[in-house]
Amino acid sequence: MTLVKTRFAPSPTGRMHVGNLRTALYSYLIAKHEGGKFMLRIEDTDQERFVPEALDIIYQTMKDTGLVHDEGPDKDGGVGPYVQSERCQSGLYLKYAKQLVEQGDAYYCFCTKERLEGLKRTVAGKEISAYDKHCLHLSKEEVQAKLDAGEPYVIRFNMPLEGTTTFHDEIYGDITVNNEELDDLILIKSDGYPTYNFANVIDDHLMGITHVVRGNEYLSSTPKYNRIYEAFGWDIPVYIHCPLITNEEGQKLSKRSGHSSFEDLLDQGFVKEAIVNFVAFLGWSPAGDREIYSLEELVDVFDYHHINKSPAVFDMTKLKWMNGEY
Ligand code: GLU
Ligand code: ZN
Repeated sequence: MTLVKTRFAPSPTGRMHVGNLRTALYSYLIAKHEGGKFMLRIEDTDQERFVPEALDIIYQTMKDTGLVHDEGPDKDGGVGPYVQSERCQSGLYLKYAKQLVEQGDAYYCFCTKERLEGLKRTVAGKEISAYDKHCLHLSKEEVQAKLDAGEPYVIRFNMPLEGTTTFHDEIYGDITVNNEELDDLILIKSDGYPTYNFANVIDDHLMGITHVVRGNEYLSSTPKYNRIYEAFGWDIPVYIHCPLITNEEGQKLSKRSGHSSFEDLLDQGFVKEAIVNFVAFLGWSPAGDREIYSLEELVDVFDYHHINKSPAVFDMTKLKWMNGEY
């Protein structure tokens, strides 16, 4: 049997929202429950959204909650997290993008901002903003001339537009999308960095990730990722998309709503163990009616097949009650 490997792959863009903490926790629990390995991977190739303090928050939260990663590059005599901006230095992602260009699955695009503005495609009577494949039709010589002239470019994936793509999610079941709706997503940006979408796929493959755990806002991106896996001939991981978290009024908890970040809950006097226990129950419940668990006990009982797809409610009363039990 293959060793189960999971990862938490945060983008350091702000605070550690409970939704992020839940993703980290479930990834950890799935790996540990199966005797597998858990990794931490910092997805920081989007320089515009990068917030340096967010890194410290991530590291501190992982430490505070005991979600220790098992694998990573050597760092200061220990096991570091994987950091994508560091992995870029060797030209790793560019090499894979160029492989796709060679295969005809990706292409150089030299379109200006002005040209891209307002590009639309009509799909089943609906207008969607999508690239029109203009640069796919450049000849090899034209592309070379533009590259030689130093024209700025991006590399796009050549999404096949015919037919449908179906994928399976362990929580949401089989999902089918019309390929026409998929955009020729950018793999390498004009600054030479990979988009987080592309680096995410490459790294999940290279790191041997077997189970991808993330928020359900990524469900719509998954078919695009799968086309990239297919273009490389790589195995697609098991997908576990976690349900939405809402407040007691049924509204989506926003990243900005301060009270729902891990540090804010600590500031409000909740103990770490209670927060972790509470977060485990956001969309999952064990068989039986026991509600207080240590992290080790959660490892024993956690079964992702029992994650619910209906939205989880962030219930302050429950957190307060759990806090009282620690
Ligand atoms: N970097 C993404 C985020 O911060 C993670 C996407 C994933 O886990 O696949 O939300
Ligand atoms: Zn173009």
